[in-house]
Amino acid sequence: MTDQLLAVLAQTTAVLLDFDGPVTPLLPADRNARLADATRTVLEAAGVQLSESVNATSDHLAVLRFAASNAPATLEAVERTAVQGEVDAARLAVPTPGAADFLAVCHEARRPVIVVSNNSADAVEAYLDKHDLRHLVRQILGRPYGNPSLMKPHPELVRRALAILDEQPQSCVMIGDSVTDIVVSQTAGVRSIGYAKTPERGIELQRAGADAVTTDMTALAEAVRRSGTS
Ligand SMILES: [Mg+2]
Repeated sequence: MTDQLLAVLAQTTAVLLDFDGPVTPLLPADRNARLADATRTVLEAAGVQLSESVNATSDHLAVLRFAASNAPATLEAVERTAVQGEVDAARLAVPTPGAADFLAVCHEARRPVIVVSNNSADAVEAYLDKHDLRHLVRQILGRPYGNPSLMKPHPELVRRALAILDEQPQSCVMIGDSVTDIVVSQTAGVRSIGYAKTPERGIELQRAGADAVTTDMTALAEAVRRSGTS
């Protein structure tokens, strides 16, 4: 596994980093379910008829997508609720073990890191500020406000990151814990490392086409350390 990590790192010079997962478990299941409820409440208050799947989902971003396509008049209010919930969650979130070390090692090795997240940039910034990590990140690209169709796996955020880095796609590696992170990597032509907290997720990420998979951000930090300056 380490060999694959080292191979991907040897071929790349910059990092596109997903947030919820590899940096912090921002929205554990119970908190995500409560935020989904809060966003649904906005739709219900506006008298919007919810689909069965939106009624049942514990993912507030699924509610946000539904609002954008079925009740655009409510989108701004749903988005505001989503952002606020994520910022509140960011203030409570605990670090993913090894994540701070990973950011520090990338900084030392002069591998620029851009956060590419479907969460709001405000939430990412609140978290990084609180944990004194903001200076280790070149830029934060969060969910395009009021435009959830541009969330990953849409390649918009990755393309923006590549433009900021002024890098070719194949020189960059995306690190994420969702199948969508691997899918967007393939669409945009960047390499990918899956971060898997469970063996099942590891298999999913591998099947989606991840170039390498790690179960541990500390191991990834160590691999960057061994790769040295790119
Ligand atoms: Mg994630």
